[in-house]
Amino acid sequence: VYGLGADGLNGEACRKIFAAKGRPADNPLILHISEKEEILPLTSGLSPMAEKLMEAFWPGPMTLIVPKSDRIPEVVTAGQETVAVRFPSNPVARALIRLTGRPLAAPSANKSGKPSPTNAQDTLVDMDGRLPLILDGGESAVGVESTVVAVTGGACDIGVESTIIDTTGTVPVILRPGGITEEMIREVMGEVELDPGLVRPDQKPKAPGMKYRHYAPKAPMVLI
Ligand code: AMP
Ligand code: MG
Repeated sequence: VYGLGADGLNGEACRKIFAAKGRPADNPLILHISEKEEILPLTSGLSPMAEKLMEAFWPGPMTLIVPKSDRIPEVVTAGQETVAVRFPSNPVARALIRLTGRPLAAPSANKSGKPSPTNAQDTLVDMDGRLPLILDGGESAVGVESTVVAVTGGACDIGVESTIIDTTGTVPVILRPGGITEEMIREVMGEVELDPGLVRPDQKPKAPGMKYRHYAPKAPMVLI
């Protein structure tokens, strides 16, 4: 999906993401990198489990929860001892990260609670006037008065969020289902669990974002 990016090592920049989205401060951000090795300065150590997952599914729609290093601003992790890291496959996103030389904190480019945009035009629906620039990965340029749109090449090919996997325990645990499925993870890792907080109303989800209303379209719904 389209992301709203800021320098992930700059707390002030990351706070602007929360303001633009109306994002609750207790919902931590994912840091995006442009090469596998770039995870190393962001973590205090990778488990063999994390390394095996990186080998199998990066670059791609998989986010790993790993122990954080001292360099990560508190606003990024919302005070947690772990950090979420992803290596995307989209060439435009990777080129942007490489050019900045920084990990980019980037949640989806929609207001909190709303569906994630999969093209530049839909990004404008929630974000027009709230950000200085949209990098359009699609064919057509969209121009409006308050937001500049830069065109590059190609639309989202998955269109759902990344699968979040906690690698800090003994078994990989899915904290949010996404583009990489449970079956794909089981095939590589042998075993995989689902965070009980996702299915049991009496338990809190381990990914703070999963307790909020999510992906809620603003349209009437008819059940057939
Ligand atoms: P978004 O970028 O909006 O798709 O949201 C990122 C998701 O990752 C949210 O559900 C966060 O709660 C979750 N997340 C980010 N960092 C962590 C972490 N350290 N531990 C658990 N979940 C995290
Ligand atoms: Mg989102």
